Amino acid sequence: MSSAQAALDADPTPPSWGAEEIAACRAALRPEAGAEFDLVVIGAGITGAGVARDAAARGLRVLVLEAQDVAYGTSSRSSRLIHGGVRYLEQAEFGLVFEALRERDRLYALAPHLVRPARFIFPSFRGDRLGPLRLRLGLTLYDALRLFRGKGHRYLPPRKARTLEPLLGEEGLRGAVWYEDAVTDDARLTLTVLQDALRLGAKALTYAPVSQISAEADGRVRVEIEGGRVHARAVVVAAGPWTGPKLLGQAGRGVLSLSKGIHVVLKASDCPVRAPVVVQTPGQRRILFAVPWGSRTYLGTTDSAYEGDPGQSQVTEAEEDEVLDIVRRVLPHARLGRDAIISTWSGVRPLVRPPGVDADDTVELARTHRIVEGERGVFGIVGGKLTTYRQMAEDVVDVVVAHLKREHGRTDLGPCTTQRRPLVPGRPLSAEELGDPLLADLADRHGPYARTLARMVAENPQSAEPLAPDLPYRWIEVQSAIEHEGCVHLIDILRRRLPLVLTDVALGAHVAPQIAQRLVAARGGSASEVAHELDQYAEAVYGETRRRPPLQRQAG
Ligand SMILES: Cc1cc2nc3c(=O)[nH]c(=O)nc-3n(C[C@H](O)[C@H](O)[C@H](O)COP(=O)(O)OP(=O)(O)OC[C@H]3O[C@@H](n4cnc5c(N)ncnc54)[C@H](O)[C@@H]3O)c2cc1C
Repeated sequence: MSSAQAALDADPTPPSWGAEEIAACRAALRPEAGAEFDLVVIGAGITGAGVARDAAARGLRVLVLEAQDVAYGTSSRSSRLIHGGVRYLEQAEFGLVFEALRERDRLYALAPHLVRPARFIFPSFRGDRLGPLRLRLGLTLYDALRLFRGKGHRYLPPRKARTLEPLLGEEGLRGAVWYEDAVTDDARLTLTVLQDALRLGAKALTYAPVSQISAEADGRVRVEIEGGRVHARAVVVAAGPWTGPKLLGQAGRGVLSLSKGIHVVLKASDCPVRAPVVVQTPGQRRILFAVPWGSRTYLGTTDSAYEGDPGQSQVTEAEEDEVLDIVRRVLPHARLGRDAIISTWSGVRPLVRPPGVDADDTVELARTHRIVEGERGVFGIVGGKLTTYRQMAEDVVDVVVAHLKREHGRTDLGPCTTQRRPLVPGRPLSAEELGDPLLADLADRHGPYARTLARMVAENPQSAEPLAPDLPYRWIEVQSAIEHEGCVHLIDILRRRLPLVLTDVALGAHVAPQIAQRLVAARGGSASEVAHELDQYAEAVYGETRRRPPLQRQAG
């Protein structure tokens, strides 16, 4: 390793991914340019990002094509947990839980700033399906499936449970278990995985929907996007809930059951849970979570069969009421009126559809993953979870590598290395560095890249200012989003890079005009583009939350 490379790894900079790189990538894909890659990955959710990273680390030349933005789909609309899934124990999905717990432990080591352990409280109230004894048995099994590593669960009698979580209702409380799982930022985890793929040499283009995939006689696969074409030796369709016959042909028919889940966001002062609380749903085999999120708390989720465009799933008032009612039983002293809701989100799970199973009962469908083979050289990967993305990627890239070896004589490709490769290179921040409030805030989202951002702040001290008074996001992160994080539209910055749409009472409206100007200026655009960005932003926010951001156009 050269000394320059060693210095970079010790104090790394995020890969450049701004207007210039995006324009160059688009130009390189014009039909006449004859672009060729080993592997084209379709979709930049957590699955596609994971596949690109795994494949690039094995030495493949990789291109990712994404119809919208990184993590536009389910990967920015989850419950944001990295967990084994206590619920799946009841379905006897022991293999899945074992795998998810193992992946969770790996992520603790590989992305400590993004995957943080938390002690969850799982109470049992009179009338709940799972009484204290069953909870204790279940959590003992959970500990066993983690091979008794780490701190095991603890049983809490009612009084102790209320000491740890005073918001729990007193009436009917029979006890609780206290156990470990983890929380994350789903969209940032996805971006960070993709950024590492870029560091490894992969290319990625967003707002590039793939319209056609066809196997050619010479063993290559042709992939078409609007105004562009690329050839590859293999294609992986990682289009989440959009996976179907359009991308996979006959093999994509009926592979998925879609299931919708919603979340609502409240001010923490209205629902001040200290730790994530697991809430049983009366009469059903499903659970909800109340999760503390800085100055906010979010509640969710639901699980109901879904049809239609996964990008357009909306939260209805009835669903908001359903979630609030279920949580109110357990947290009766929280302020859980519909008027307390700041924001909402809704996502669609791409679940593997087993043959002969009633697809409407999505609660009972396993969260396992499956590889599907389409035309020669075209593979799909469906199902799974945010938590298991790395294993999913390893499994499908193994299949791709075997194909490339068999059909294209590639004997030079290494084995999977992502079990050991940190998502962000460089030293984790020291306790002394984390004593600096700016570095501490930035490290939460950027890990070792926080040092680079802090250096950028030194050149422009105003950029240390927060974007909103009670939220941790800083202006320097807007600059980084534009220069390093592949943002094309305003909504990319304010929904997925920094989730102001979900956490800010004004839904990002007070900073949107200024950020739109910076974004458009970076690509050399005109004033009319700023207005267009703001219109699109308002529409997207309304589409997802049914709330209109109070934009002040004259301020722009
Ligand atoms: C409500 C809810 C809660 C959840 N909670 C958790 C949780 O707490 N923990 C957990 O581990 N998992 C959770 N999950 C599951 C997890 O979020 C999903 O399994 C995961 O995000 C799916 O990722 P994906 O990359 O496969 O799909 P997506 O994230 O949807 O990505 C697919 C991408 O493909 C793109 N695409 C589609 N068509 C095309 C095309 N023609 N050309 C190019 N690109 C295209 C889309 O724009 C999209 O960005 C939850 C899911 C839901 C819905």
